[in-house]
Amino acid sequence: MSLTAFGQKEDFINNIQKNIINLLKSLPSGRLGGSQQEKQTFYIIKDKIDSIGFISRFQKFSCKSFIIKKEKLIIKKNGKEISIKCAGIGFSNNTYPNTTSGEIILLNNNATHLPQKVRGKIIICTKSTRSKMYADFLEKGAQGFIEISDPGCGIRSTQLKGEYIDLPNNIPGVSVSYNNGITITKMLPAQATIILHQVIQFSESMNLIVNINGHSMPDEKIIIGAHVDTVQNTKGACDNGSGVVTLLEILRRLRNFKSDRSLIFIWFGCEEYGWKGSSYFMSQCDTISEIKLMINLDSLGGYIENNEVKISGTEKIYSHFIDFVKQKHYCCCVKRERGTGDDIVFSQKNINTICFHKGTPYIHTNKDNLNTIDAAALLTTSIFLTKYLKEIANKNIKF
Ligand SMILES: [Zn+2]
Repeated sequence: MSLTAFGQKEDFINNIQKNIINLLKSLPSGRLGGSQQEKQTFYIIKDKIDSIGFISRFQKFSCKSFIIKKEKLIIKKNGKEISIKCAGIGFSNNTYPNTTSGEIILLNNNATHLPQKVRGKIIICTKSTRSKMYADFLEKGAQGFIEISDPGCGIRSTQLKGEYIDLPNNIPGVSVSYNNGITITKMLPAQATIILHQVIQFSESMNLIVNINGHSMPDEKIIIGAHVDTVQNTKGACDNGSGVVTLLEILRRLRNFKSDRSLIFIWFGCEEYGWKGSSYFMSQCDTISEIKLMINLDSLGGYIENNEVKISGTEKIYSHFIDFVKQKHYCCCVKRERGTGDDIVFSQKNINTICFHKGTPYIHTNKDNLNTIDAAALLTTSIFLTKYLKEIANKNIKF
């Protein structure tokens, strides 16, 4: 045990880090939007909020969710069949009780247009290509798709997002590892058969909200949020358990803070389906013009990855943030652009947004676990953000 004041301070910090990590450990895996695991996580967070001494409320909403029952990919060449390990892509089309077969056609990474004659075929591509061109796949009559995950991360679990979830003419899709992507590509020309059985249903998801009412400027609101849900088959330690626990740590640090502006802490549901929780929050908010800033915490705590901060909004908020970062010696890479998570819903309404991201290469895979989470980085970010919130909540600044 340390005897110096400095040593005691270090012990104290180590304890906070331990608490943050223990909380992260306690979050259930596979917190898919609308699942029991997601709900369970919300109750764990609510308990913590209660124990800090804040009042919170659930904002429930209905969401479409999916459960994959069966996923199979068979490649056929010269009369031989091989079965390739795969994961069904959520909200893509069911083949059940039938199968979907077709010749495989390779779409280069970063392709900007589809090759001729994809009709009736099964496209093999990467996720970024699929995301950009999915509507084209449907329009040009592709039969299904195989998505190749990034190298070194196994099979990346994924689902269709946003407006694609409800398309009537969806096609079935599965994802495979990078190595198996190469195996299949080497076999071309070949045929693929996809078997996908998933149950699509309506479930209940929610947001969890804590209001800290402002004293002198209650009508000026600052939101700070993190999403709770994950994709399938993952612990989601980085994406976004890290954001969940960091947000709690910031709230804990603000328990005796008297704020001039109103602060709203929100844990969002269903982000991975295309920002469903944050969109629902905005649809129910009749004072959108009072929201001056939204801060989003999405995937923090990687050890060696870039600590990225993306700012979208006025010059004032941007230059003030840059000055503050320098003053506090917070190590990050600030970019003036929109983030890609729940903050998008706010920046689309012309609200200032700041998105924090220090991801790992294993996001959306079964390797997104505690091994790649740096507790010290989470603590540093929560200390910095507490200081920033105290500054911005009381500063005489016009947003
Ligand atoms: Zn995320």
